[in-house]
Amino acid sequence: MQAERAIGVDLGGTKILAGVVDRAGVIGETMEIATPSGSQEAVLEALNTVIADVLEDGIVAVGLGAPMNFDRRTGRGVRATNLPLHDIDPGAGIRARFGLPVGVENDANAAALAEWRLGAGRGTSNLVMLTLGTGVGGGIVIDDHLYRGWAELGHIVVEAGGQPCQGNCHGRGHLEAVASGHAADRAARALWGDDADAHQLVARARGGDAAAVAALARIGELLGAAIGSLANIFDPDVVVIGGGFGAAAGDLILDPARASARREAIEPADENLQIVDATLGEEAGLIGAALVGFETLDGLR
Ligand SMILES: [Zn+2]
Repeated sequence: MQAERAIGVDLGGTKILAGVVDRAGVIGETMEIATPSGSQEAVLEALNTVIADVLEDGIVAVGLGAPMNFDRRTGRGVRATNLPLHDIDPGAGIRARFGLPVGVENDANAAALAEWRLGAGRGTSNLVMLTLGTGVGGGIVIDDHLYRGWAELGHIVVEAGGQPCQGNCHGRGHLEAVASGHAADRAARALWGDDADAHQLVARARGGDAAAVAALARIGELLGAAIGSLANIFDPDVVVIGGGFGAAAGDLILDPARASARREAIEPADENLQIVDATLGEEAGLIGAALVGFETLDGLR
């Protein structure tokens, strides 16, 4: 790799992945370690460790994607899901240690940035991305800029008074509560008992099991309700669906979601609505983090 490169760091609840990435999204050397669960200091030190491991000549910036809400006025992370990080700028220590421009961004926003620039949303100006994993994340591109607010699209209400949400969220009937991998786990357990999970639900549906197909169709219908509502606000050129559960369930949820979204979206978004699979897979977070680094270098943030 001769081109300009940044280090992207994808900080997750269970692992930290760092990698050297060029502006075209080509990934070079990578390093992965388990996320320390003990203290804030341990997590910050682990970030420095993985960055030092992949650091090489020609690195121009570092970008960090973290499962945190960032206050975009101050750059400080307010709180993290599943991590002992609270009211902190996680880029400060990296900046001090390596002397490079460092950008920080919510991990789902970073993934949306990657899909927009280099993946399924390439060439569009307005995009909504939903990442369906154990939880539901979201990111929005408006008029060729990543929206840097919270974009917590997993916590919009699609079923008032419905299922309690996950983690620290005290809401009910949020998208994350009804259309995540955990929601699919719950649907599987309701059908076949405590040992069943989302993998089994998807596998049985692919085998033609009517109850499994119906359970995933209901998840898709609620997902589509959220997408229709988002289309009514943002009028996106494309809605990109990513995440491990999203990729596994595929058209089993996307086809019902398309029908439901077209029902809820106002004209002309109903007919024009494009709902597509993400194309960067699990690397979206890493590539997006590196793009955040490049944006920082370029003075775009
Ligand atoms: Zn919630």
